[in-house]
Amino acid sequence: MSVSQLARSIVESPTLRLNEEARLLRERGEPVIHLGIGEPKNKAPLNALIATASKLVTGDVKYSPTDGLPSLKKAIIKYTEDNYDRLVAPENVIISSGAKQSIFNVLYTILNPQDEVIVLAPYWVSYPEMVRMVYGVPVIVRPEDGTFQPRMEDIERAVSSYTKAIIVNSPNNPSGAVFPESFIAQVVEFCEKKDIFLIMDDIYHKLVFDGVQAPPAYRFTKRDSETTKIVVINGIAKVYGMTGYRIGWAIASRELVQIMTNIQAQTTSCTSSILQAGAEGALLGLQSVVEALRLQIQNNRDVMMQELRTFTGVRVEKPAGTFYCLPDFRAYTNNSVELSQFLLKKAMVVTVPGREFGMEGHLRLSYSGTVKDVTEGVARMKWALDPTSANEIYIGDKKLVRDWL
Ligand code: PMP
Repeated sequence: MSVSQLARSIVESPTLRLNEEARLLRERGEPVIHLGIGEPKNKAPLNALIATASKLVTGDVKYSPTDGLPSLKKAIIKYTEDNYDRLVAPENVIISSGAKQSIFNVLYTILNPQDEVIVLAPYWVSYPEMVRMVYGVPVIVRPEDGTFQPRMEDIERAVSSYTKAIIVNSPNNPSGAVFPESFIAQVVEFCEKKDIFLIMDDIYHKLVFDGVQAPPAYRFTKRDSETTKIVVINGIAKVYGMTGYRIGWAIASRELVQIMTNIQAQTTSCTSSILQAGAEGALLGLQSVVEALRLQIQNNRDVMMQELRTFTGVRVEKPAGTFYCLPDFRAYTNNSVELSQFLLKKAMVVTVPGREFGMEGHLRLSYSGTVKDVTEGVARMKWALDPTSANEIYIGDKKLVRDWL
């Protein structure tokens, strides 16, 4: 079939593909443990459900303004003031069908063909593909010291006259690292000096542990909402565990929001009014749900660290946020895709290969599920890989004997 070269070159989302694989295995009754997925197990907050239902029963389900419902924008403005100490106008906000669409809209709006975007490894799988989808060029910057903390000197070396933007995601998917204030301050200053966009993907900003805070980029700029080139991306998927609502937003200058609105008008027209009502319910409702989720995930993180520390040869950096970690399995293999497939086949555990995030030899493990998922999942991985672990295990009601080590 003749399709565009660009479309053909865009790779499938590995995380969504793994979700589907896990779903099909579960449907067949296989006892799969999903350490791949990035979504909490909580129910949507009650305030969100009530707001969604109330909107639905009015029967008034029509197109809504392209850039978002005014009442949800108002809630987002309050959220931005409460969490970022920054007062923005409704014209600085655009609501999209998920943070993913917000990021795509920003990239579509700012890039000319061949323009470059700095992407910091390890990176969320979608950034390089999205940049390429708008004919841009992702430039991957790796910390040379092998840590998960980006360094300004590496970024400075990668910037060229084609650089249009830098994407920063802290707390970071997949490493769980939270970048320090000093780095955020430097990157803001650098982008302002070079006149490039700074796209802050803050989707995990409240999922932080042990008193660590993700420093907001706004803290380090003197520019106002119209002159800043900082774009902040946020949403309800992770912090409220409302992934299926598909509501995200971008905060940017009026000029940028206006152009993004034109793009959205020609693609999706608007975001579902029912789901926007639900998002408003979440933002204006009891915020203790977020703290409860954060505490539960912090506990899961602790269990994950405890389990991984007794895994021979595996090195892991303790995450300060998100619900992921990115342990190093190079003591076993450098091929993370093969390793991930092996673990799925032998141990029925879903993991995401580090290669997808620009970190070969690592696996991304999610602890967004239950403590039981974490303990059993890692126990199965140890059984499959670690020769010092017992060579018999029960997976579901089947007793399995390891005969490959
Ligand atoms: N940014 C990052 C870093 C993410 O991990 C995700 C979801 N996996 C998103 C954006 C997308 O969020 P949403 O579900 O709101 O589109």
